Amino acid sequence: VTVNIVHVVEETIQRLQRTFEHEIRFFHQQHETYFKIHKQSFVQLLVIFLDNAKKYSDDNIDVYLEELDGNIKISVKDRGVGIPPENQVNVFDRLYRVDKTRSRKTGGSGLGLSIAKRIVEQHGGEIYLESAEGEGTTFIVKLPKQEV
Ligand code: ATP
Repeated sequence: VTVNIVHVVEETIQRLQRTFEHEIRFFHQQHETYFKIHKQSFVQLLVIFLDNAKKYSDDNIDVYLEELDGNIKISVKDRGVGIPPENQVNVFDRLYRVDKTRSRKTGGSGLGLSIAKRIVEQHGGEIYLESAEGEGTTFIVKLPKQEV
């Protein structure tokens, strides 16, 4: 199905904002970006990133949507604890959690990002992160235009 990604992101942010103490901001170039995508999976992706950003940071969260040659790039940036370089490759693994003591108080199963990775791969996309300890983390997803 073809959906307006801008609208889907706005809807999802609005819904989650109610349970978030800090502001989720949304930056995008267009008012409409139509994209052929499985809406429910796309929403699930966003929710995984935003829930993590909420758990591991204590400040505003920024969501960026960019369109390039019909491909979309969506980034979720937090200003939280960050992920140490040696753990960055593992966070997408099933059940992997960085530093059990740090994670215990926030709960979680270590499944979120492995699900996110699976969704992105099913859509032929790429997922990666940029992070610095004590500064924050950005999760980035690039999704190719689906052939109609
Ligand atoms: P859940 O399955 O409920 O999301 P989880 O957060 O432990 O639990 P993942 O979402 O897979 O599981 O994340 C794996 C690990 O990566 C987390 O335990 C955490 O250590 C680290 N992590 C994920 N997102 C962030 C983030 N935004 N900032 C810092 N660390 C993060």
